[in-house]
Amino acid sequence: MFEIIGKKVNVKDYLKSYQGKMEWKPKFVVLHNTGSPRLSQRPNGFTPQHMENLRGYYAGMGWKGGPHFFVDQNGVWAFNPINKKGVHSPSWNSIAIGVEMLGDYSVENFNSGLGLAVQDNTVNLMADIHVYFDFLPSTMALHKEDKATTHNCPGKNVIKNEFIARFSEKMTQPSKIVIYKKGEGHEPAGVVSGGFKHGHNFALVEDLRKIVGFSSGLTGSQKVKDVLGDKYTYSWDEKNMKLYCVEV
Ligand SMILES: [Zn+2]
Repeated sequence: MFEIIGKKVNVKDYLKSYQGKMEWKPKFVVLHNTGSPRLSQRPNGFTPQHMENLRGYYAGMGWKGGPHFFVDQNGVWAFNPINKKGVHSPSWNSIAIGVEMLGDYSVENFNSGLGLAVQDNTVNLMADIHVYFDFLPSTMALHKEDKATTHNCPGKNVIKNEFIARFSEKMTQPSKIVIYKKGEGHEPAGVVSGGFKHGHNFALVEDLRKIVGFSSGLTGSQKVKDVLGDKYTYSWDEKNMKLYCVEV
């Protein structure tokens, strides 16, 4: 039988643990729902035994793997190891990560109750995957968009545009860029609104220029460190989402 992880994971830590160990290059995510079991059949979510049973079921069909993640109302389960190709969507197995949501959203509600809990957990998972692999949100596909499948998966209650909008919003977290200039004492020279994405703080060059008074030649939204360069030292307060920039 093929290898599975079969455990609930912290997605950010799980993805990071495979850095440098990827045996394939995923390009986008395909979203599924389990159909069977329905959410109503798993009112307490999955258990490790359910993961084992799924492995047995897929192996019985002759599959060499499965989806990379299962999502229930309690969190995210890693299934097919992320560093290996999975099996979930005939046309896209060699290029796409498979995400399987517990539920049958042709009949079960996706916007309230346990369905909403599954959706919220999937939104967080998708944001983490898209940030980590640097995928554009618009590249995600629904299983039923695969021309080689007859599965109506996920069900009609999963509305692609609304779902993309939800996880896109999560991909950039608002941050503050606090700038201190040399010889101006303990008060910051200014504070700029920024966005934290993919481990970096971004801000509008125009906003930064008003405070630091020099031009980097860049325009638009850029990494703060690329704009201010080595004229400043940086310390990142992740808890409060503040980047302190101090002029040297
Ligand atoms: Zn599917």
